[in-house]
Amino acid sequence: MKAVRFENQTISVVDLPLPEIGGNEALVKILMAGICATDIAIFNGYAGFTGIPGHEFVGIVEQCPKSPELVGKRVVADINCGCGRCPACLARDPRHCPERQTIGIRGRDGVFAEYCAIPVENLHVVPEPVETLCAVFAEPLAAALEIAQQLHIGHHTRIAVIGDGKLGILAALGLNHYSSRVLLAGRYPQKLAIAERQGVATVCLDSKDAVAAVCARLGQFDITVDATGNPEGINLAIALTRPEGTVVVKTTSHRPSQIDLASVAVNELRLIGSRCGDLSLALRFLENRWLDVKPLVDAVYPLTDFTEAFSHALCKDSLKVLLAVE
Ligand SMILES: [Zn+2]
Ligand SMILES: [Zn+2]
Repeated sequence: MKAVRFENQTISVVDLPLPEIGGNEALVKILMAGICATDIAIFNGYAGFTGIPGHEFVGIVEQCPKSPELVGKRVVADINCGCGRCPACLARDPRHCPERQTIGIRGRDGVFAEYCAIPVENLHVVPEPVETLCAVFAEPLAAALEIAQQLHIGHHTRIAVIGDGKLGILAALGLNHYSSRVLLAGRYPQKLAIAERQGVATVCLDSKDAVAAVCARLGQFDITVDATGNPEGINLAIALTRPEGTVVVKTTSHRPSQIDLASVAVNELRLIGSRCGDLSLALRFLENRWLDVKPLVDAVYPLTDFTEAFSHALCKDSLKVLLAVE
């Protein structure tokens, strides 16, 4: 099969044998995959990964000895594969299994390939009405919606999402269903417009004074989400949060952050890390068309043109770049 390989900050498209599946795994033929900021961070050295990258996908189950009824079904998958024995796994949360593998990120080959072996328990069948192009957003949308699973959000909770990348836009669109007072702050008018067209208030942080101007106009926020993907983003989030408010950390940069901890202490802020979420919730959002992810798609490349696709994804003003694998 054709597959992409990351090794020492080089990319190659190689021919590999089909993955062998274990007793608890399914062989999934990949239809479409998405390049995400984490893939770029991995390429730059985050997580020290070597192998086939990629964790956002839609595929068709081709072999599944454990659950033959899944063969032929269109699926997406949770990306964390736990050991099945530790307290986190026994509590059905392999996201925090200390021995976990993560598809295309840690210890396990990913989906930028024609086929991938995936644990059966990680699979979610995609509802019929959800197009493949939209279902490929299930994993990042689940990560965005995780914020609403971690925090109590009331209809009047004031939320600022900082960063108008893919995750920031998805978070703003998702949280807009929980609160009527969501603001997306970013730097690219054309990206902000995607959220604005779906009813989210936006502000362009185009100058140094923009943050002070936002606070003067709107006050500080109960919850601020750092989805900038930038190690400096956290301090902007802290500055926008009211005393005793909550800062949600979504950024996973390979560079460490210098945090203004004095403001956190003085203002008694809560910092909450937030990672992967519930794909079944994301699929429900997509099935009910509670948000439209299509405007986030920038381009679709064949898998064999991965290098071009990846350069496109590296452009600062790009949004979701997809790979059509068939
Ligand atoms: Zn991702
Ligand atoms: Zn475990």
